[in-house]
Amino acid sequence: MTGVSDPRPTPPHPTTRSLRDVGARLGCALLVLATACGGAEPARRPAYVSRMVFAPPEVDDNAVELPGARRGSPRRARPPSARRAQPPPSDPEIPAPPCANAPKPPSQSHGRATGGRLEDGCLLPRRGRGYVRRNRAGYGTDDMVAFVAWAAGEVARIYPKTAPVVVGALARPGGGKLRGHRSHQNGRDVDIGYFASNNRALPHFRRMHHGNIDVAKSWSLIGALLATGRVQYVFMDYELQVLFYRYLEDEGLDATTLGQIFQYPAGRRARRGVVRHAKGHADHFHVRFTCGRSDPHGCQ
Ligand SMILES: [Zn+2]
Repeated sequence: MTGVSDPRPTPPHPTTRSLRDVGARLGCALLVLATACGGAEPARRPAYVSRMVFAPPEVDDNAVELPGARRGSPRRARPPSARRAQPPPSDPEIPAPPCANAPKPPSQSHGRATGGRLEDGCLLPRRGRGYVRRNRAGYGTDDMVAFVAWAAGEVARIYPKTAPVVVGALARPGGGKLRGHRSHQNGRDVDIGYFASNNRALPHFRRMHHGNIDVAKSWSLIGALLATGRVQYVFMDYELQVLFYRYLEDEGLDATTLGQIFQYPAGRRARRGVVRHAKGHADHFHVRFTCGRSDPHGCQ
């Protein structure tokens, strides 16, 4: 384990093998079924995708602005003691980020998603295994870029001939206000499309419903992201939550875990679950990551 004050170690150059190992370790840390642990090759669909032990990070709902929340809605001020970064992840195994920009110091996410900035951000390459980025705002924290690239690669490993998923906005270089978004300001937000049925390649985000979405494949991506243990929220249309909830229920996921993951069926205003409804998220989902080890004190 690495202490909070330890400098971030220089990660080794990632290889397919090491990423797979990371995946297996993450899986081992989070699995209910231990079938993929102990060095065994993961099953075609890793168990963590549908059977993870999900430990949502401690979040203060008052500190999080949901997309679509009324501008200027009252928020309780938090005491100074609460203004600190999330604790570092318990598993220090994070894949090296495949940054497309020049070598740089570790990224730092400052302030809030709706009013922060990003220092030394990592540029997610335009294309990678399992994804294509369609938005110019491609900067994020090192951890977020690493996780997104890793998770998309996991889907491509599970579905070798898959069409790539569309990745939309991350943040601008340096973060700050991004046109068309309230958040995406400190490098810990990313918009990602859903996978369409019949392996149809989508050139951009497409509004999804039960008739055109590949629920299993889309969940393999969302589940991999959640398995990192570093997702604070996933914003997703409530109607789509129903599809994923039922899919996982059919897969045998227990009600307690389902309740930790989804806001459904408590209603679209319920402050419950990591997957929350937010308007405008039927054609993509929005992932907000927690602060990481290299983030400063003011990361919220
Ligand atoms: Zn977004």
